Amino acid sequence: MHYTIFELDQYRNHVMSWFRRIFCRLHLQHCHRCRERLTSLRLDVSRRVN
Ligand SMILES: [Zn+2]
Repeated sequence: MHYTIFELDQYRNHVMSWFRRIFCRLHLQHCHRCRERLTSLRLDVSRRVN
């Protein structure tokens, strides 16, 4: 099971609860796919004009 963009966005913005953040971080350590999604999320935000 992978994290959704919505969940990764919560993780990124520190609005995810602490225990979910721990699981998410562990998942990101070994899941290339979710790391890629998180990276693309960061890039999207930085590209956003407003
Ligand atoms: Zn994943």
